Amino acid sequence: MNELKNPTDIAREALKRLAAKHLQPTPANFQVCYNEIAGLPDIPPFPERPLRQLASTLVPHDPPQAAHLDALGQAIAKRSWQGVIDAVAAFAQAGGARPSVIPAGMVPELLATDLALSLARVVEGFSPFFGSDSPRSVAAADELVRLLRQPKIEIHTVRNALDVMACHVRSGVEEQQEIRDSLLKLLHLIIHNIGELGIDDRWLKGQIDGLLASIAPPLTLRHLDEMERRMRDVLEKQGRARIRSVAAQQEMREMLSEFIKSLAQMNRSSSEFEVRIEETARQVEKVTTPDELKPLLAGVISATHAMAEESAHSREQLKNLQQKVEVTEAELIQLHHELDSASALARHDPLTDALNRKGLDEALLREMASMRRKEAPLSVSLLDIDNFKRLNDSLGHDAGDGALIHLANVTRGNIRPSDTLARYGGEEFVILMPDTALDEGIEVITRLQRELTKAIYMSGSERVLITFSAGVAEVGQEEAGSDAIRRADQAMYLAKRAGKNRVFGG
Ligand code: GH3
Ligand code: MG
Ligand code: MG
Repeated sequence: MNELKNPTDIAREALKRLAAKHLQPTPANFQVCYNEIAGLPDIPPFPERPLRQLASTLVPHDPPQAAHLDALGQAIAKRSWQGVIDAVAAFAQAGGARPSVIPAGMVPELLATDLALSLARVVEGFSPFFGSDSPRSVAAADELVRLLRQPKIEIHTVRNALDVMACHVRSGVEEQQEIRDSLLKLLHLIIHNIGELGIDDRWLKGQIDGLLASIAPPLTLRHLDEMERRMRDVLEKQGRARIRSVAAQQEMREMLSEFIKSLAQMNRSSSEFEVRIEETARQVEKVTTPDELKPLLAGVISATHAMAEESAHSREQLKNLQQKVEVTEAELIQLHHELDSASALARHDPLTDALNRKGLDEALLREMASMRRKEAPLSVSLLDIDNFKRLNDSLGHDAGDGALIHLANVTRGNIRPSDTLARYGGEEFVILMPDTALDEGIEVITRLQRELTKAIYMSGSERVLITFSAGVAEVGQEEAGSDAIRRADQAMYLAKRAGKNRVFGG
């Protein structure tokens, strides 16, 4: 997070951040920046004074409202947000039950029935938003719907009830925001810790860094999508590695148990040998003639032979085991390499970190489903770098690789977070642009073209101008994604034919 320890340094940095973010130099904003830099939890200060002022402006109209106002005062004193929210909501609700305050003699204004029913449908529509954790808000919404469905309902009654509802909605939104923020923090922590665990794995570390970057605010559904995709890559890899390493462990265990068995056998043989030698030695002491010695010697010789054979056998067995272990180890290392490249191939192109074909296929399916659901346009563009072969030939393959990375970076910096960049082939890229019609898509890619000319690529000290030709196609509601890409490809081909460095619609 940060290395600043000294409060003076933190304060200085906080002031700089205030200026950089163009924030008003209020104590509250300063506190937020200070906390961010110091890595302190971002707990907003409790606004006791403004709340007390607010409470003093509220006038109770009846004893229940007076009681809720008291409760509000106590909640402020206890610095309890939930208490404040509850007391204000209860105060407003008690007010809603107030008898009419229409001056005597005036006819109360009624709400038109169709408007009341529309309102009822709106309230019914957002009521699930409160969830099962807020029964009071759900009850208030139900009550409002019941009210709106009554015939001849007075406008001021509806207004009071809507005020109460607005209170519930506001606190609901704040709560959801808090939940989302804390979930994000938690997620950050978990991912960070997983990263720390994957000690010696560069691929995993890269993926984790990507994950952390993808959950940087603002949190959008696309960000979450990208995160899910990366998380799936990580899990797939871990899963495969686990299965193989469990098998390898089992093999090792079996080898070890075989080895222990043969050790035991060796031990047994050598103790038998010892016993036999001792026995022979005892018998030798009793020997009186050379003839008696002969069979004893023969016995010793055969026992020695057996022992030698046994130990040669054990040595052989040991050697075999050792070889087997080495082979398994080599296999594991090989497997690790294969997994690395297989996982890297999963959804991301390792060179540019854009999606690869598989990732593109998945993203395209998702975007097309969303396009149909929302009935919104979706455009695809196919880019092909101009004269790339010449660049490779004149500056070398590494410079060519660098140019691909450069193009991917500039593209990412110039498309919306909701757009998707994929490497389609060698020097061809596809960009998916949701909520974008053809004309707008052409504009986006033309702007990218301009930006790319400004962001000159440096290969060593050489300034290299990269241009591309592109085709853009808007995906038809009933069209297959691959057909739309084919149309964009044809348009790109026409752009090449027309002299390159242009964008054509397909
Ligand atoms: P045009 O303007 O018509 O597109 O010409 P071009 O030279 O860009 O197109 P061509 O298809 O003839 O050549 C593409 C070159 O891209 C050939 C290939 O060696 C190179 N290439 C493909 N993938 C990579 C890569 O990953 N790295 C590098 N450095 N070059 C690549
Ligand atoms: Mg090409
Ligand atoms: Mg090309």
